[in-house]
Amino acid sequence: MSQIFHPSRAAGLAALDAFVPRAGRRYSEARNFDDGPGNRSNISMLSPYIRHRIITEQEVIRRVLAHHRFVDAEKFIQEVCWRTYWKGWLEMRSSVWAVYQTDIATLPRSAAYHAACAGETGIDCFDAWAVELKETGYLHNHARMWFASLWIFTLGLPWQLGADFFYHHLLDGDPASNTLSWRWVAGLQTAGKTYLAQADNIFRFTNGRFNPTAFAQSAGPPSEGPVAAVPIKANPPLPTGAVGLLLTEEDLHPESLDLGGMHITAVAALPAIANRADAVTRFAHDALGEALLRNAALSRSSSVMMQTVDSDSLIAWAQAHQLKVIATAYAPVGPISDRLAILVPALAAADIALVPIRREWDSAAWPHAAKGFFAFKDKIPGLIGA
Ligand SMILES: Cc1cc2nc3c(=O)[nH]c(=O)nc-3n(C[C@H](O)[C@H](O)[C@H](O)COP(=O)(O)OP(=O)(O)OC[C@H]3O[C@@H](n4cnc5c(N)ncnc54)[C@H](O)[C@@H]3O)c2cc1C
Repeated sequence: MSQIFHPSRAAGLAALDAFVPRAGRRYSEARNFDDGPGNRSNISMLSPYIRHRIITEQEVIRRVLAHHRFVDAEKFIQEVCWRTYWKGWLEMRSSVWAVYQTDIATLPRSAAYHAACAGETGIDCFDAWAVELKETGYLHNHARMWFASLWIFTLGLPWQLGADFFYHHLLDGDPASNTLSWRWVAGLQTAGKTYLAQADNIFRFTNGRFNPTAFAQSAGPPSEGPVAAVPIKANPPLPTGAVGLLLTEEDLHPESLDLGGMHITAVAALPAIANRADAVTRFAHDALGEALLRNAALSRSSSVMMQTVDSDSLIAWAQAHQLKVIATAYAPVGPISDRLAILVPALAAADIALVPIRREWDSAAWPHAAKGFFAFKDKIPGLIGA
């Protein structure tokens, strides 16, 4: 695993500052080129930081707009907002996540699946991307699209297992962006629209690094009925007084959360999700550790990294600090949200409330993700203005 990404806020901010001058027209003209690892100046490489909210979407957009007119940076801002859109979409349709979880637990993993993961299919570009993903924890957006398309339509493998392979190895692995992008390629997000990789497109946008020949030229009709959307719930009122702060890998900048009348007296972190590539779990673990120390220093309180996710250790921590309320940044649909859902009743039985704090950015944006991204896109200027 190469050391392109460092799990700290300082590294995220430095990467942002270095990229900001390139976020204007240059980005929109050059972003689709995958010039290969080590040659990524046309894109930001900020996703591992934004995914864990080591740096937030809001501050990325704010810094970009301090340097560029909206019209020049619009493409970059739209890309940042894709993540918000996907999160909102999945938040309203958590059943899609639940079904996907069952699928990856039950779908058989064939010899062809193992060959694809090993980068041993004989398709040069595909095999190179499989290796690049495992070695760097990153792939260019266009490569992700081509890879997913080849996985589904040329190799005939289930999209769910491809999404799981990505999630296992991506440093920016994000339940919403990853799962829904794979569904989009498979034709499940936009009715009747699949994404078919074309050999000449790969040749052009890799600057001739790859010159593939035979690919699937058709995609079978995707099969799935309409998915009902459940509206986003309103934010419950926040309590006041002393609280413990619980960090998760979903949001590592709680300094910018609106705590209202709460004040932090102790800080703890849930361990990073473990069933991923070591480097991915280590990145999340180290980023959590850094945020933990930063926030404990800020609130002049003690800090602890939980060793396990069981409710007993969390209750013991809360009782040791005489906490009746634990505040945590709202975890969108995904494995952290699944973990918290298990903890809530056990904490409540010990008379401890777990209070999720949703960012205004999410509360304002997510309800607009009821339909496609084009409808959402129109809301972006208003969202930024607000
Ligand atoms: C099949 C597939 C799977 C993907 N899985 C993930 C994933 O697990 N996690 C993830 O963060 N992104 C995922 N993406 C989206 C996108 O590929 C990456 O966010 C992007 O390549 C990250 O590189 P960058 O930071 O240089 O992006 P830039 O081009 O510099 O974009 C700036 C920022 O905008 C956001 N962004 C850009 N494109 C997208 C997009 N299509 N969807 C959501 N956010 C976007 C990211 O936060 C990114 O850091 C996936 C895309 C596809 C096609």
